[in-house]
Amino acid sequence: MGLLKGQKAVVTGGGSGIGRATCRRMAEEGARVAVLDIDEAAAKSVAAEIGATAHVADVTDPDGLQAAVDRAATAMDGITTMFNNAGVGSVAPLHEWAPEEWDRLIRVNLTGVYLGFRAAVPHIRAAGGGTIVSTASISGTRPAAGEAPYAAAKAGVAAITASAALEYGPSIRVNSISPGMILTKLIEPLLEAFPHEKARYERTTPMGRVGEPDDVADVVVFLCSNLARFVTGQNLVVDGGMTLHGSGVDGIFEQVFGDRSG
Ligand code: NAD
Repeated sequence: MGLLKGQKAVVTGGGSGIGRATCRRMAEEGARVAVLDIDEAAAKSVAAEIGATAHVADVTDPDGLQAAVDRAATAMDGITTMFNNAGVGSVAPLHEWAPEEWDRLIRVNLTGVYLGFRAAVPHIRAAGGGTIVSTASISGTRPAAGEAPYAAAKAGVAAITASAALEYGPSIRVNSISPGMILTKLIEPLLEAFPHEKARYERTTPMGRVGEPDDVADVVVFLCSNLARFVTGQNLVVDGGMTLHGSGVDGIFEQVFGDRSG
């Protein structure tokens, strides 16, 4: 359809899951894409598939990320669009997090987003403006036991987004997305360990299923496109309605009235 015609996009964590789906959708919509990932083989594979360039960097490494984003700018003759998407997850009781593991989750999920802004904003300004989207999570908008550093980092991504929208408007629009349960490498181990949980997620999600990476990629494309020209500073939840639940009487409605789906 050409929604992103003329855009030059860098996607961090572009080698897998939501990032890979977004690279594909951006390319379909006419953007030039630079696939950035810590996993070289994954980045190269996605880049080869869509005719993009691959760039290897760890988003927690300021110099390494800056160099990779600079190389992407050279390859595409500029950058108009940044998708700060790389992230990692883990679960533990709050007082049992090893300090190093706490730091790792904050560095990748929060500092990595800041470093993405740091590396890309000068290029986007040089291009005359553009858009930045970052991946937060429903874990940052609703409490989830066991996810304290991940939740804190993701809530921080929404906070950075709001601050940045104030700083960079009107030339750069800045938004974040908060995916719900999306079938990627990140949550596959959880569903493998607790297969019965998938049925519960499907039952408690108004859209009746766990999400696919494309469900999120399409929203990122929308936010980067001119269709979202008056949207900035927002954190858009993309969870099929999963987090509309949360009251202490969850489940009572179904027990009293039965399954009213369909
Ligand atoms: P994924 O594991 O499939 O993809 C993550 C990608 O990020 C991988 O290619 C990985 O190599 C890359 N990466 C990890 N650490 C990196 C680093 N330090 N530097 C550069 N690249 C790095 O997972 P996904 O589900 O596609 O995750 C994408 C984003 O979505 C993450 O920020 C994640 O927190 C967020 N998210 C996912 C879900 C879900 O249910 N899958 C829900 C909410 C938020």
